[in-house]
Amino acid sequence: MPEGHLIHRYAREQDAALAGRVPALSSPQGRFDPGPYAGRALRAVEAYGKHLLYHFDDSPALHVHLGMRGLFLRHADPAVPPRGGVRLRLATDAVAYDLIAPIRCEPLPDDGVRALRASLGPDPLRADADADEAVRRLAATGGAVGAAVLDQSIWAGIGNAWRAELLFLAGLDPDTRRPGPDVARRLWDLAVRYLALGRDAGQVVSDPDRPDERWVYKRETCRRCGVPVRRWELGARTAYACPVDQPAAN
Ligand SMILES: [Zn+2]
Repeated sequence: MPEGHLIHRYAREQDAALAGRVPALSSPQGRFDPGPYAGRALRAVEAYGKHLLYHFDDSPALHVHLGMRGLFLRHADPAVPPRGGVRLRLATDAVAYDLIAPIRCEPLPDDGVRALRASLGPDPLRADADADEAVRRLAATGGAVGAAVLDQSIWAGIGNAWRAELLFLAGLDPDTRRPGPDVARRLWDLAVRYLALGRDAGQVVSDPDRPDERWVYKRETCRRCGVPVRRWELGARTAYACPVDQPAAN
């Protein structure tokens, strides 16, 4: 599933390629009406958590959420015919991006954009993220920290892989309840640092020396100490943790 680091990577790349231009929008699949965007200049592509917002002149924002299986294909030759099932193609004379299998691809009026922003917690990859607010929101949760970090209204952009790896790096049992402000701060600082590495690398990076390896996520044994990784359902997703490196807090 695309987590915040990939959404920010898409936004950065597409903003550089498309902003300031008048991209041609089409829906080869026919399930999106590009009419409102015909001939409109694209001002900016913005990422917020797992959401993408395309800001056009004189049109509602275009809101994209990739969900579990959505992705973009980039074509250096924009004349390449789209394959079947492309919901949206954004094209200039230099490049085309094909959006496949999103759960959202829709015009979003200003009040919808406001409501979306208001629904999301601080995003560790946004320059305007309020770290104190992020700490306050996580420390205010009464539930397990491993469920809270997946809640997009607490922090925006963390998915299951980052949950597993960030909690490992923090030495925190995902079942820990009521993380205090110091713990929340440490976890936020890790999120800011590692999600940026992940955005730049295009994958989850939890060990800069071994960027293709994970500590516990989808592993049978902990990569640090070798004991079997614990797996259980937490926040409707499978949690992964090392019982040695992430000892139970209570
Ligand atoms: Zn371990």
